[in-house]
Amino acid sequence: FSIWGNVPKGPPVGDSNGERASTSPAILGITEAFKADSNEKKINLGVGAYRDDAGKPYVLPSVREAEKRVIENKMNKEYAGITGVPEFPSAAAKLAYGNDSPVLDKIAVTQTISGTGALRIGGEYLKRWYSGDKVIRIPTPSWANHKAIFQDAGLTVEPYRYYNKDTIGLDFDGMVADLKAAPPGSVFLFHACAHNPTGVDPSPAQWKELSRVCLEMNHLPFFDMAYQGFASGDSDADAFAVRQFIRDGHKILLSQSFAKNMGLYGERAGVFSVVGEDAEEAKRIDSQLKIIIRPMYSNPPIHGARIASQILNDPKLYTQWQAEVKGMADRIITMRKLLREKLEALGSKHDWSHITSQIGMFAYTGLKPEEVDKITKNYSVYFTKDGRISVSGITSKNVDHLAEAIFQVKG
Ligand code: PMP
Repeated sequence: FSIWGNVPKGPPVGDSNGERASTSPAILGITEAFKADSNEKKINLGVGAYRDDAGKPYVLPSVREAEKRVIENKMNKEYAGITGVPEFPSAAAKLAYGNDSPVLDKIAVTQTISGTGALRIGGEYLKRWYSGDKVIRIPTPSWANHKAIFQDAGLTVEPYRYYNKDTIGLDFDGMVADLKAAPPGSVFLFHACAHNPTGVDPSPAQWKELSRVCLEMNHLPFFDMAYQGFASGDSDADAFAVRQFIRDGHKILLSQSFAKNMGLYGERAGVFSVVGEDAEEAKRIDSQLKIIIRPMYSNPPIHGARIASQILNDPKLYTQWQAEVKGMADRIITMRKLLREKLEALGSKHDWSHITSQIGMFAYTGLKPEEVDKITKNYSVYFTKDGRISVSGITSKNVDHLAEAIFQVKG
């Protein structure tokens, strides 16, 4: 007899951003297979973190500078409060809602354990305090962790239409139809920009329409903003959807991550906010967020939040950071262009415009599972069977090999 004899071995869990969590263990095999491959030209397009043009992880110089200041200030290691390093969440909220947004004094805002923690706290808050159905609707497909996070918070998770396989684009009509078909007052999770995994975003005009339909239906929008600045290179442009919904009067929930745009992945710097009716309501919400957080982990880690706070609160460092985010976004955009150009130059008859119209870290190529298999087998290019590539794995040195591989298999 063993105490844990009844514990079954679960399926493998994807453990980083881009990975598909338990719905697709295949990616773990990909990393292993990539490592074992001796082909000099091998390419790993499964990575979920930014890589520079040499294929190396990148620490932003503004982050190095902020970290240096944190250390030089000889700050102590005392606990932060329950809602974190005080100057961080307020500055993060300004970044999201805009410096002079009228909602800044009507929000309850707290530091969280990166974006994942923000979503989890948000799920818990909805579960306890949302008076409507305890159901959250997420796009098909979505970041695989969304479902698990909200289920663990005790919500029921339902899908809404988002991606159209045939057009390799947005199923806008399906999305609107699902918004309209849901019971009034439903909670909808939106990717604020750079939808993961498809790279397909609504246009500004489409966001306006989505906002209008949500108002009409009295739906509650929950924005997951994991890539602000990282998508287009412009933090304001990437906040368009969030700010449009706010302009239209929505009381949104918002998750922010600084994993991608500051490259703070392992530091776990994130923020969660809820827009209330007024300052008094925000205070009540804030008290409930504290009640949720305290028994979960007492208070969040301080180091990454101090770094982010230095950057957000120092105008010079902030400007430097914005340029560096743009540098990352531009590299990704350039790699998209290069890949498309090379495919066209090779004579591919397929329409590759989606490669450049999509945005953010990931691209849905539209390649079929058997095509992905062939590309991997014959050309040592590794990516998931759904045809998703992490654009940040492309460099000016390997893009020719990648284009050649896709062209040889797909034509
Ligand atoms: N949402 C989406 C859509 C993501 O892709 C990610 C991963 N970067 C996150 C949230 C949260 O990641 P993290 O917990 O590392 O901030």
